[in-house]
Amino acid sequence: MSGEPPAEKRVRCRNCGNMTPMYGKFCIYCGMKMLPTRITQILGISVGALLMSMGILLIASMIMFPMIAVYMILMRTTELSREVFLTMVALMAGSELVMILAIFFYFDNWRALLTWIKMLPSGRSAAVRSIALGSIGGVLCSAVVTFIARCLHLGIEVEVQLVPTDILVIFAAMLIVGLSEEFLFRGFMQQALTLRLGFWKALLISSAVFAVVHVDVRIMPIIFALGILLGMVYEKSGRTLAAPMAFHALYNTFQVIFPILLSF
Ligand SMILES: [Zn+2]
Repeated sequence: MSGEPPAEKRVRCRNCGNMTPMYGKFCIYCGMKMLPTRITQILGISVGALLMSMGILLIASMIMFPMIAVYMILMRTTELSREVFLTMVALMAGSELVMILAIFFYFDNWRALLTWIKMLPSGRSAAVRSIALGSIGGVLCSAVVTFIARCLHLGIEVEVQLVPTDILVIFAAMLIVGLSEEFLFRGFMQQALTLRLGFWKALLISSAVFAVVHVDVRIMPIIFALGILLGMVYEKSGRTLAAPMAFHALYNTFQVIFPILLSF
């Protein structure tokens, strides 16, 4: 008569949606904190992530724009020099690295983070294929967007003269940017939303957020479309980040390289 074990008390994880034991401080399925910040508790995880990324971009621009303004006044110029351009790129990469650390705050340790947000598909050939296809897609997409922007006269005018090694610096910075943004928007936000709302809703929401945090209204439709594409690449590659990261990094790098090549 007393053989019934007491039902284990469980609560729904705010991240992955699984029922996890109440006694733990972290979800046993995805490793996310069961006691998130007050903001995520009230607004839910996607809004929490949005505020987080907004805050980081704000800090980045608060550092960057006054520096550029001071530089322009001191140098009595309205054009960015190579040094300033490269400094901007490096600062952007640095501030986006902070974004990954902010995601880390939501999880109990790096193992839990990498168990839930997966980088590579299993198997070496699948991993190589992911990175190769992602890279090719990024370059092609960048070429198409450069072409459309030229036709619509929306193109970013690059007046900066860069020496060939600068491209390496830009690529390294864009790799960090791709890594950070894919971690947040696809690995964290889209994955968490997909588990509760289904793929299409999650794709639309995370792409919209991705577009909005890029602040510049003129490029928002392009960024939104890019978000949709990256989100589909992420889903197609079994929710691993190697392909969208390679895509994003090369897309950004060639957004700098193509206009320079065209200006010759
Ligand atoms: Zn969970």
